[in-house]
Amino acid sequence: MNVSVVLFTADLRLHDHPPLRAALDGTRQVVPLFVRDRGVAEARFAAPNRLAFLADCLCDLDSGLRERGGRLVVRCGDLVEEVCKVVTEADADEVHMAADVSAYAQRREVRLRRALEGDGRRLHVHDTVTTALAPGAVTPASSDHFAVFTPYFRQWSQQRLRDPLAAPRTIRVPEGVGSGEVPSRAGLSGVSEGLNAGGEREGRKRLSAWLRRGVAAYENRHDDLAGDATSRLSPHLHFGTLSPVELVHRARRAGGPGAEAFVRQLAWRDFHRQVLAARPATATADYRTKHDRWRTERTAREDIEAWREGRTGYPIVDAAMRQLRHEGWMHNRGRLLAASFLAKTLYVDWRVGARHFLDLLVDGDVANNQLNWQWMAGTGTDTRPNRVLNPVTQARRHDPDGTYVRRWVPELASLEAPMVHEPWKLRGPERSAVDYPGPIIDLADGLARFKRARGHG
Ligand code: FAD
Repeated sequence: MNVSVVLFTADLRLHDHPPLRAALDGTRQVVPLFVRDRGVAEARFAAPNRLAFLADCLCDLDSGLRERGGRLVVRCGDLVEEVCKVVTEADADEVHMAADVSAYAQRREVRLRRALEGDGRRLHVHDTVTTALAPGAVTPASSDHFAVFTPYFRQWSQQRLRDPLAAPRTIRVPEGVGSGEVPSRAGLSGVSEGLNAGGEREGRKRLSAWLRRGVAAYENRHDDLAGDATSRLSPHLHFGTLSPVELVHRARRAGGPGAEAFVRQLAWRDFHRQVLAARPATATADYRTKHDRWRTERTAREDIEAWREGRTGYPIVDAAMRQLRHEGWMHNRGRLLAASFLAKTLYVDWRVGARHFLDLLVDGDVANNQLNWQWMAGTGTDTRPNRVLNPVTQARRHDPDGTYVRRWVPELASLEAPMVHEPWKLRGPERSAVDYPGPIIDLADGLARFKRARGHG
């Protein structure tokens, strides 16, 4: 065979890339292809922060390919049509791509397979490119997926992962395959000021630094909001500039309780993917419905706006929401608090919150976002679905001296803990000196409403 196409999707890297390796092993020439899929934009999934990060990733991928004698072919339009056009132009025999889990990705794969096979070409879909373990690789006796994390993790941990693959040395791309321009960040509007840079090189640098200096303390510090002591590798995992298989191997090699705790989080990522792969409808429908009659955009507009803008009057929630807007990223503890506050304290439909997160998060991801939202809303896989996080207690625990709040809520910069977490307790001139809203809801009222709604009131 002479030519194959490697379709890059959420796997924008050269290291540990099974589709690329298979293509290079099987054919003399390879077309590395990325399609800016019109369907993704139409589904409102192409948010500015992710488009900017994606542009960095594609530039870096193109330059990595050029260093190896190749180049990236970029097309724009309907993914299936564009792949078929490239296959015809290159007279390719086969297409290699990574497996993906969302309903959209699953439908797209079916369409692509049909189109290629109808034309006498083959589609090879590779597992363990965007997950460490393939969805469905481990299942409980009675179901096609695990609904609870702990037993999943037990099985996940016992599986032997494949060895990571080296990046190829050379790539030969056939002449005459047309390409659009590799997109760039310049000119994109609505991008968060503090957004990190994307790309495989950047991801690998961050990973090495993390394994050298960060991971050892992860177990003890991952919830320290101000310490910012998590890896921040989520956008790289989302865009596939880093391979989850390689990450697990390298973290295990680093060893110690920090690395173990970090690997466990990577398993959470696989866990949500195997749920979504088996139940794609849970991107929008309750996984385990509690028959909630949520408040919505129509009935809770002002509360939702206050939450989105970070002016609920609960400093820790507002700090997290402002970090999201400024960086296009939020600390996991912040995500939990912001989600609990919206879905439980304000009793607003989790889909409203998930949509806002997807509009801003650089790592915004259907599996991780929707299923974590469901976890926190108590409609997902949490075995304690009615737990409600108290933003004041949580702030005292995870931001004990108030540094995180002061960083993101400058109106409170003059306050020390504990007052910085409860500014409504200020009196007289001290209160008037602080230009910050009072709480939009009393926590006890919110809790009582939630308990009533769930039949525990
Ligand atoms: P680290 O703590 O360093 O963890 C390493 C990696 O493990 C992460 O990069 C991520 O890939 C994975 N991971 C960590 N925690 C989780 C988790 N709870 N579930 C699944 N995977 C996890 N993560 C996303 O990648 N995209 C999202 O859209 C997303 N939305 C979320 C929404 C809510 C309401 C909540 C509560 C969590 C969400 N998460 C999401 C999970 C988690 O918050 C982020 O993965 C994490 O904060 C990213 O930071 P990090 O890379 O420093 O994580």
